[in-house]
Amino acid sequence: MDTKSARRMAIRAAGEWNMGRVRQREQRVDSYYGCDVFDQRVMRERLPKAVYRKLRRMIDRGERMSPDLADIVAAAMKDWSIERGATHYTHWFQPLTGMTAEKHDALVVPDGQGGMLFALSGSDLVQGEPDASSFPSGGLRATFEARGYTAWDATSPAFIRRGDNNATLVIPTAFVSWTGAALDLKTPLLRSIDALSKQAMRALRIFGTEEGISRIGTTVGAEQEYFLVDANLYHARPDLMICDRTLFGAPPPKGQQLDDHYFGTIPDRVLSFMAEVEQELYAVGIPIKTRHNEVAPGQYEIAPQFEMANVACDHQMVVMEVLETVAPRFGLRAIMHEKPFAGLNGSGKHNNWSMVTDTGVNLLDPQEDTHTNMEFMFFLCAVLRAVDLHADLLRAAIASAGNDHRLGANEAPPAIISIFLGDMLTDLIEQLQRGTPRRTIKGGAMDLGARTLPQLPRHSGDRNRTSPFAFTGNKFEFRAVGSSATVAWPNTIINTIVAESLDYMCSELEKGLGKRPTDAKLETVIKALFKRVIKEHRKVVFNGDNYTEEWHIEAEKRGLPNLKDCVMALPVLRSAKTAALFRKYKVLDKAELTSRVNVFFERYAQQLQIEAETMVMLARQQILPAAVRQLRDLGQAIEAAQDAGGVACEELQTELAELADLIGQFRTAAVALADAQKGAPEDPEKAARYFKQNVQPLMITLRELGDTLEGRVSNELWPLPSYRELLFIK
Ligand code: ADP
Ligand code: MG
Repeated sequence: MDTKSARRMAIRAAGEWNMGRVRQREQRVDSYYGCDVFDQRVMRERLPKAVYRKLRRMIDRGERMSPDLADIVAAAMKDWSIERGATHYTHWFQPLTGMTAEKHDALVVPDGQGGMLFALSGSDLVQGEPDASSFPSGGLRATFEARGYTAWDATSPAFIRRGDNNATLVIPTAFVSWTGAALDLKTPLLRSIDALSKQAMRALRIFGTEEGISRIGTTVGAEQEYFLVDANLYHARPDLMICDRTLFGAPPPKGQQLDDHYFGTIPDRVLSFMAEVEQELYAVGIPIKTRHNEVAPGQYEIAPQFEMANVACDHQMVVMEVLETVAPRFGLRAIMHEKPFAGLNGSGKHNNWSMVTDTGVNLLDPQEDTHTNMEFMFFLCAVLRAVDLHADLLRAAIASAGNDHRLGANEAPPAIISIFLGDMLTDLIEQLQRGTPRRTIKGGAMDLGARTLPQLPRHSGDRNRTSPFAFTGNKFEFRAVGSSATVAWPNTIINTIVAESLDYMCSELEKGLGKRPTDAKLETVIKALFKRVIKEHRKVVFNGDNYTEEWHIEAEKRGLPNLKDCVMALPVLRSAKTAALFRKYKVLDKAELTSRVNVFFERYAQQLQIEAETMVMLARQQILPAAVRQLRDLGQAIEAAQDAGGVACEELQTELAELADLIGQFRTAAVALADAQKGAPEDPEKAARYFKQNVQPLMITLRELGDTLEGRVSNELWPLPSYRELLFIK
């Protein structure tokens, strides 16, 4: 679409978007919440009691399913889904592309008498066999070894996805190769939860609190930030369409400096969009809780109530998909990129994480008198130790081309991984380091000074928005995750490093306790352990402002890694230490790990290459022609003025000369960028390094010149919608 008509249509759409395409739903959440989920309620209703009980055991304890059981479940699932209009089913999985994948099969089969009947067998449910050859495997599998399998993950409920004229039964699955190697992000996540469960159970046994508990899981609540832009303007921006971020664009006079967008009144069209998104998500059982405007103009957030990690990670993928598919109905486009607009806040995904017993006890809940809660302190110290010992791995877990623009750039959280504990816990670990803790700092109450206002309880510590890994009440919040990332991978890493830390600390305790443990012995041994762990790992705790230069200097003194970009961060995944860690806890073997590193490097290099090519295309096909037209107009104006009686037009002459010079520089920079790409090596890691060192600087130069040109070319001629239009037409 050309920019002029895009602008016109965008302005119109902001006022009166196309309600016709919006499905009218009853405004009663209870009538559709979970209506399209094959959840426990449906299973209980539809399965014979014995089958239901077996299935629950399988889900709760991770037991395997027998084929005859699978047949019964499949039949019930088929009946339920065709009653709800489904014609197809799909094994839905998460390959290493970082997106989801699906292949649909009809639920109908010929009945042998010229008709059709509906069918879904146990084996259809349990196992699928998509051709795996076109998914990235990072060398784990050659193209001719195309066989891949999907395996039903019964712990994540199946659901129905609807379009205007279609309904599909979606079955969450793991994706593995013919040899059983994990080709996806779900398999290692499930393995990491098992590893953590095993070690955390061991801790509970030492404390003697394991009664009635058979498993520990992790909980995840992922807050998703995103941008919305008008769809007409989006279609006039090839960079947004191809790269999900703007590659050119001069800053608008007003950005986010007034802080007037954050938590502001949600624009009408946006709120309608959010409501539609929420309704679609409620229908498939995703408990969306929060919606609000974010810091940058055009930026918003959606957050669910937390769930068990595996389900939460699947649901997070659905949240992103639904944001993307619903937006066009409102004439909008949702942008999940980490940094779509230069000079404005980028988007992240705060990954709230905790550990919970299958009886519902949150192991990171400090409770009232925290200093007497040995178990809490134990789990806290384990996380502290894990994050310090494996800060580089956590950094690698969130490394992506998009996230490089946030982390380590002039916006936070920085690439330095540190923990925020707050006043109460910091005081507590100081006490632990000295010996026996004797107090828990209390928040008290706040008097607001007006009698009609209630007295508010005060938390024992303030918030810290700048910390990449913050303790927030009864969970940790990993804030450095990128907005477009799948949370399965960072959670796999968190679970694995915490499992390792728990393993170490349990072993130390068991060693100290010997054959005849007593409470008194436990107290002595654990105090000594706390002291040592805190002394060794306290350096990772930082409660101050992570954005400041002083912190960078301080962190370096403390010896904390500062891995500024992918090229620096990803090689950690190749280290012997990492391989040993993943092998020990059976999360990834060496080949599976290597394949992931290759894919990450590959994706990084490819993204930079696509961005560079898009820039060259925009430069040559849109920006240069516009700038030249401006030059011609100027030239003609000067000529006309001179013809009209020898007017000197000195200023215009200067303008002409400067513009011509700028155009020349811009062209040179575009040519240089086009040429630079030709030298990229084959090897993924080398290619990544090459693009970082040789190509990215040229992109920055070209952009600066392009943005300067934008300020000198008439708005009428400029071929791309401006930041002003993209961000403020709501
Ligand atoms: P914030 O003020 O940082 O936005 P909230 O208290 O609103 O934080 O919670 C943010 C997210 O954390 C929500 O998705 C919430 O469900 C999730 N959360 C709360 N408790 C836990 C927990 N124990 N484990 C995992 N996530 C949690
Ligand atoms: Mg938060």
